[in-house]
Amino acid sequence: MGVPGKSCGPCTMCCKVLVIDHFKKDAGILCTHCIVKGGCSIYEKRPQICQDFECDWMMERSIPQTLRPDKVGTLLMEDEDSGEYHAVVDPSTPFAWRHPLMFKFLVAKAKEGTTVVAKAGLKAWRIYPSGEWAPWS
Ligand code: SF4
Ligand code: SF4
Repeated sequence: MGVPGKSCGPCTMCCKVLVIDHFKKDAGILCTHCIVKGGCSIYEKRPQICQDFECDWMMERSIPQTLRPDKVGTLLMEDEDSGEYHAVVDPSTPFAWRHPLMFKFLVAKAKEGTTVVAKAGLKAWRIYPSGEWAPWS
């Protein structure tokens, strides 16, 4: 469950932009069980990986409503494997993370000392505390 006052609503970003091994689904491909703006068609039987996932917008009270993933085309999440903070976008809109509100948030996050990385499929860019950004691998 997300923090009070937050719900996915019409957002289905995580069902599209994330790689989901369970379904052999690549980034940017909408899950076949996803109803656009309607949610999950197998909600009661969705796999554990889906049940466990919540993006950072859902979990963090301090992230404003204006940054709901579908509004800014960017999903925020901590990547447990790398320790990086990821701003994940659809590969078809690889610079969606440059949305002014989102970019301001990401720079502020970098200023906290976090390694902030924007991801669009196999492409990635690091965002630095100075507001500069550059390809990242
Ligand atoms: S990206 Fe976040 S807000 Fe959007 S559907 Fe997934 S968990 Fe919900
Ligand atoms: S099974 Fe449901 S929750 Fe999981 S990715 Fe597909 S549509 Fe989204």
